[in-house]
Amino acid sequence: MPETLLKVSDLHGWYGESHILHGMNFEVRKGELVTLLGRNGAGKTTTLKAIMGLLRQRKGSVAFDGTETISMAPHKIARLGVALCPEERGIFSALTVRENLHLPPVLREGGMTEAEIDTLFPRLKERWGNSGAKLSGGEQQMLAIARILRTGATLVLLDEPTEGLAPVIVQQIRDALLELKRRGLTVLLVEQNFRFASTVADRHYVVEHGQVVDHMTSDEIAANTERLEAFLGV
Ligand code: ATP
Repeated sequence: MPETLLKVSDLHGWYGESHILHGMNFEVRKGELVTLLGRNGAGKTTTLKAIMGLLRQRKGSVAFDGTETISMAPHKIARLGVALCPEERGIFSALTVRENLHLPPVLREGGMTEAEIDTLFPRLKERWGNSGAKLSGGEQQMLAIARILRTGATLVLLDEPTEGLAPVIVQQIRDALLELKRRGLTVLLVEQNFRFASTVADRHYVVEHGQVVDHMTSDEIAANTERLEAFLGV
């Protein structure tokens, strides 16, 4: 079995007085694609922010490749090889697609070249000179993922990449995620769309009220779709 890359233990998090994460426990092994599933407000995005160091009030343990990061600043965590692709994607509309791609610095060796990104996302290839504002939602998502791959990150935290996208584009995002897996990257994916999640991920953690309440494989998801639909309110 591959070794653990990310181990989250008894992770608590707060926004001001609001206690949001109540002792999250889960792990992701090298090369795995794992999802956090849960309803709106369950604490999935907050968990990603805590791992990235962006949630200031946090305690417990987040070990990345054996290094404790719970007290580290986000830029230090990024340098270890962790990258967050937020739900809002963060594409700058005044910059070209290529300028957006080159915005984050390359932090580690092993990042993808522009040629490799062209192969992974042929749709972006024709748009390097266009402004970020001209991209569709799906293209923005591809650019947001491509931008991370260039930095050499080894753990990618992806927040709802399929949100608001047409089925044909969701399919392309799915292919891209499977390609990341083939390249040995490790992905922690936040999703509400468990049908999509079950087609890409190895394992799933179900999150409720800031805690992991269940753990399942994609086969188990397929066998429990009605129960999950009721639970996730979809
Ligand atoms: P969603 O799909 O809606 O993003 P989620 O599971 O990712 O759901 P979070 O975004 O982590 O949930 O939110 C968890 C809780 O924290 C919610 O009750 C939310 O209202 C609250 N919350 C999120 N961001 C903030 C913030 N900046 N300040 C205060 N409370 C917040």
